[in-house]
This record gives sequence, C-alpha cells and structure tokens, in this order.
Amino acid sequence: MKTNFHTHSTFCDGTCSILTMAQTARDHRFSMLGFSGHAPLPFPTDWNMKQEDIPRYYTAIQEARELIGQDLTLVTGLEIDYIEGMLGPQTVTYPEITYSIGSVHYINPKNSKQHTDLFAVDEKQDDFDRHIQTYCNGDYEQAVSLYYKSLYAMISAGGFTILGHLDLIKKNNPRQSRFSETSSFYKDAVMHVVDALQGTNIVVEINTGGLARGKTQEVYPAHWILKELHERNVPICLNADAHAPEHLYAYYDHALRAALEAGYTKQVVPSMHGLITVSLTDSQ
Ligand SMILES: [Zn+2]
Ligand SMILES: [Zn+2]
Repeated sequence: MKTNFHTHSTFCDGTCSILTMAQTARDHRFSMLGFSGHAPLPFPTDWNMKQEDIPRYYTAIQEARELIGQDLTLVTGLEIDYIEGMLGPQTVTYPEITYSIGSVHYINPKNSKQHTDLFAVDEKQDDFDRHIQTYCNGDYEQAVSLYYKSLYAMISAGGFTILGHLDLIKKNNPRQSRFSETSSFYKDAVMHVVDALQGTNIVVEINTGGLARGKTQEVYPAHWILKELHERNVPICLNADAHAPEHLYAYYDHALRAALEAGYTKQVVPSMHGLITVSLTDSQ
C-alpha cells in the first residue's frame, strides 16, 4: 500500500492543482494521499496559504475526492509552522483536518515577536549565509542549536500528527561545508530531539523533498538518525513533500529503502479512524 501525506498544490507553493496531484497519485497506484498545504501565518510569505483561501482548499479536496474514485483515499491535512516564542500547531485549531504536519522552517535568534527578525533554515543558500552573518555572528552552530531547540520545543508543545523534515537545516549545508554533521556537537543536538520523541505518539516522516529538488544527497532525516529513532520505537511514514506531480513517485524507493535499512517493517499513517499501521513489505 503506497501512501503519501506531504503534498502541496497551487493553494500554497506547489506547481499543480489538488486534482492533478490526486490523478498522478492514482496513476502511480498510491492508496492514500494526504494534502498538507502550508497553513496561514500572521505575516505574508511566498509559500503559506492565506486565511481566506482555507475554505476553498477544503472544497477543492472534497471535489477531487468525488472525481478520483474508490482506489485513492484523499485525506485533508495542513503543514503547520512552529515558530518559537510566537506560534505553533498547539496554538491553532482547524476542525476540518484529519492530521497535521508540525514543521520548523523559521528560527527566531533574537527571541523576538517581530516576524522581520525571523529567517528560514531552508531559504536560498545566499540568504541563509547572509542571515547567519547578521543574526549569529557567522556561527553556523548557533543556528543548528536554535533549530534543534525549536524542534524540541515543538515536540514538547505537541498538537500535531507528523514531524516534518527532522534535519531540514542540512539543506543549506552542501557537502557539510557550513557545519559538521558528524561532530559530537551536532549529534548531541539531534539526539536531544530523538530522545524527546520516544514515547510520544508523533510519527516522524521520511521526507524525499530535498532529494527531489537536488538539495540533499539523502532523505530527511539522515540514516543514522533513523536508526536511533527505530531503536526507540518511534513510528515513521514515507512522505514526498511533493511540490510537483513527479515528486510524488520519483524518490519513493529511496524513502522505502531508508526505512527498511534502519530496521523498520511498518509505517504509521493518519486515516479517518486515527493512526493506522501499514506494512512496508507491500508498499513497493
Ligand atoms: Zn516544510
Ligand atoms: Zn512541505
């Protein structure tokens, strides 16, 4: 059973309509497709939905559901930002959604209430490098600390189903040119998060979005992190973070292989009846 719960569309920063994404998933024999448009923020961005578009977003999913037929189940979700000191999945309510992805994109180095003091760890490399100079005195490890501290705070606050792209900050660390991902400093920062996940109901996604956009050589999270998660019985699911139809299927095998290599035999996914467990052996 092939599934994907991380799908964007033209309602946010995706390239295609909800119906096109659903048709592509059906053509590639997915059984479940979850939509996770970027939930609105109280300030303008190029990638979040506007509050007034939310009702149309729900309607578009419902219309696609009626057109797509029985083979593919469409599930309504949102990807909700956690911004430390400002907002997070725990502070917003969307009664219509079946699940949410909790994601840290922004860090808040000045612990400010102003959105102009934030920057995104997955922004363009040039912008990221410039912000590290401005806000972190050129110290990339300071940004790494802030990022994983935010992730830890989001996990503690809860209110979401799936943890988005756990080690997203490596997107702007090509060939480990900005910080070491093998240092004890980095591993300790990650392990703080991994340990916090143990015993929660949070599902960690294996996300192929970085691979699909040529930004990373591997899935989020890294292989060694997946092994640590598996040892702690933290559930996973396979997600594309699809911003275009081909993202849905192009790297699916990478995610599956990463899960199997880390020792996983099952994934846990959202459904109308809560979280359900699905075997990975019939997920090819
Ligand atoms: Zn994201
Ligand atoms: Zn996303």
